[in-house]
Amino acid sequence: MKTNRREFLKTSLGAGIGAALGGKLVHAQTRKVSLEELDTAAKKSVLKAELFKDPITITAIDLLKNGEEWFVRVRSKDGAIGMAVSNNERIEVFHPILNKIVAPYFIGKDARQLEALVDGVYVYDSNYKLQGLPFWVCVASVEFAILDLLGQIAGKPVGDLLGSFTRKEVKVYRANNDRGLSAEESVRRTKKRVEEIGAKALKFKVGGRLGFTDSPPDRTEKLIPLMRKTFGDDMVLMADANGSYHVAEAVRVGRMLEEYKIIFYEEPCAFDALEETKQVADTLTIPIAGGEQESSLWRFRWMIHNNAVQIVQPDLFYFGGFIRSVRVANMAAAAGMECTPHISGSSVGYLYVIHFASFVPNAGEFMEYKGKSEKMPIHCETSTLICKDGIVRVPTGPGFGIAIDPDFVNQATVVAG
Ligand SMILES: [Mg+2]
Repeated sequence: MKTNRREFLKTSLGAGIGAALGGKLVHAQTRKVSLEELDTAAKKSVLKAELFKDPITITAIDLLKNGEEWFVRVRSKDGAIGMAVSNNERIEVFHPILNKIVAPYFIGKDARQLEALVDGVYVYDSNYKLQGLPFWVCVASVEFAILDLLGQIAGKPVGDLLGSFTRKEVKVYRANNDRGLSAEESVRRTKKRVEEIGAKALKFKVGGRLGFTDSPPDRTEKLIPLMRKTFGDDMVLMADANGSYHVAEAVRVGRMLEEYKIIFYEEPCAFDALEETKQVADTLTIPIAGGEQESSLWRFRWMIHNNAVQIVQPDLFYFGGFIRSVRVANMAAAAGMECTPHISGSSVGYLYVIHFASFVPNAGEFMEYKGKSEKMPIHCETSTLICKDGIVRVPTGPGFGIAIDPDFVNQATVVAG
């Protein structure tokens, strides 16, 4: 990263983007941190276990399925219930890991120890040999349900269990995946999606994903200027390359993104090509974002310490849940960086990032909005869950503040294997 990253952001502000960003670009103050500082930040206690006086023994964890929707139900000895929607696409494949390895570890344990349990399940019975996305998606699914259980017992939203619930309304952005379409068609579709929800920010795909050729071949060159021209200077634009490039090409495209005041450049190089990503970050002024495929706290530490990215993006499912993702956010905060969570899966996943933003001060200004699923019947008394004027109201009820329709739950089958 050149020393003029701050200048880049100032220039962006001059282009009218600053007004939309509301001066919350904490990555503008990115600073060098020691490994000791990062370790201290990562070790900060996350869950407020002191809210619970008596033990909360977990007696059952059920993985339920109705149609394409998968969700987890956890019960305590005293009869409390917590529920969480899983990542439908992934859990369909990974569910034996949840049922055979993850859930049994939590049975009989005290939910107040959730923070230690998330670490414990990784080490227990050499489960770390399964480390990676398939393992952590299962842990996250169980963690979400336990957090909901704790929220039901305490009568508090998850934001108040894990921090201070301060942001009641969250600005959202729309992303697309229009690779393979012309620049003009991509912009047309993006405009429709953005206008549907009144978003003031959007993210678009550049490159061909993980080294594949751009399709059509000149799509990226046309798309970047067309996005800015179509949406004007006040729209906050982000670009995601999904690991499309090697260093030289990543820098060439990055220069274009800088010219058109794109506020960050996500995964310019392969997600696990950390040295290459750092080279791109060192060369460009535009902030680099990354981390959505990451499952290692150590590698996040490396990325932050080496300033290889300036915005970290743990996926709440892929990285193993809220507690681990907050640890990344705390390390990022020590370095003056934003930690804007990524959310995989459809269904109600967007609600998890909204909750994350409700209590994590450096969560960034805009969260991804994937839209309310029609297939998952949920009720919420404190929010419509619908985006209006680019804003979603965070549910304030206990846990995640939503209830899955009881009939839908009753008609679901328990997936045992
Ligand atoms: Mg991405």
